[in-house]
Amino acid sequence: MLVALGEPRESNDLFHAHQGRGFFVLLIFNFNLFMSFQTDTIHAGVGPDKAYGAIMTPIYQSSTFVFEDIGKHRGFDYTRSGNPTRKALEDNLCALEGCSSAVAVTTGMAAITSTLSLFHSGDEIICTDDCYGGTSRLMKTVEEHFGITVHFVNLQEASNLLPYVNEKTRAVWVETPSNPLLNLVDIAAVAALAKERCLLTIVDNTFLSPYGQKPFELGADIVVHSTTKYLNGHSDVVGGAVLSNREDLDLKLKFLVNALGTCAQPFDCWLVLRGIKTLVVRMREHERNAQAVAEFLEQHPKVKRVFYPGLPAHPQHELAKKQQRSFGGMVSFELDGSIEDVNKVLKGTKLFALAESLGGVESLIEHPATMSHASMDHDHREAAGITDTVIRLSVGIEDRFDLIEDLQNALA
Ligand SMILES: *Cc1c(COP(=O)(O)O)cnc(C)c1O
Repeated sequence: MLVALGEPRESNDLFHAHQGRGFFVLLIFNFNLFMSFQTDTIHAGVGPDKAYGAIMTPIYQSSTFVFEDIGKHRGFDYTRSGNPTRKALEDNLCALEGCSSAVAVTTGMAAITSTLSLFHSGDEIICTDDCYGGTSRLMKTVEEHFGITVHFVNLQEASNLLPYVNEKTRAVWVETPSNPLLNLVDIAAVAALAKERCLLTIVDNTFLSPYGQKPFELGADIVVHSTTKYLNGHSDVVGGAVLSNREDLDLKLKFLVNALGTCAQPFDCWLVLRGIKTLVVRMREHERNAQAVAEFLEQHPKVKRVFYPGLPAHPQHELAKKQQRSFGGMVSFELDGSIEDVNKVLKGTKLFALAESLGGVESLIEHPATMSHASMDHDHREAAGITDTVIRLSVGIEDRFDLIEDLQNALA
């Protein structure tokens, strides 16, 4: 299915550089056998700087690196192909997701673009129907421009994908929990069906981060991230990553990121690395606050429905308990009222800022129909159940009683 387009640039490196890298990977692998996820967030991929012993990874803000001899350099020659700061982030992400390769790219959309570049015209992909708005827009563009057919399917029942599989199908694209309705897809069930049919299982793990969900353990072949969200966690960078767990895919994805030029910048990688150091403590607070907010909304008379996997009333609560380590920090709800009432709530909060994006330490409120999911066409939105009265919250890590009071005032 995958025709090798060529080797990534790094594999043309000198024997010496190659050896060095192999040794490093081995070290990290061993390290991981003994260290917990929480320890890895702080230490994996990050060692004291070899030049001066700096405890924090230096920002190697350099486009190019000096050769010592013909064909001989210290592991890096040009920043599009590789950079020490980016490598530290990639090794860290690899340890957290538990896979064999990670490539850090400029944005979550760059991660998706790079991954979609694995496919050829004529190929078919099956994609979760209520995916991120930018994902559906890109998939539709890829369909129009490159002749790759995308079937948007409700994957809440894994077997729903079966009628769409034919000899041209190459992959199943899973986003769980979904955005903004927090529907779940059983990754293990989808991956099992996909494997039997030689399809790739690709999971967008942005909403939970590797703290909340480990798709490779459930059978995924590729994981994509918008590191803009929980991994960085401070709303001060846009970034992405593509991770894989199969040597042919690892090489192909590295090749594609270098060929396409979607690689992340050193300073952005440094920011994300810094953010990841507090991932565990942030995620715990996000979840605790989101659960409290969801329970508050659930009993509010002006709220028709709350979407949060941590509520026993969530139709897939049992799957969430089995598949996820965290219910996450995203809560959506449907207001019992008109679009004017929705607007009043959106403008009425003082702590929850009216803004797109998610996963930062500060709380945000937004309107999917006109904001995050405006790029999804109206019919697709309606079919996925994203009505005009749905409001999405990214619950931050402020004091949860302040957050609840803010919502209470806005709903009054
Ligand atoms: C934000 C987001 C993306 C896109 O990431 P960017 O960094 O904004 O390009 C992709 N998938 C999901 C689930 C997202 O939330």
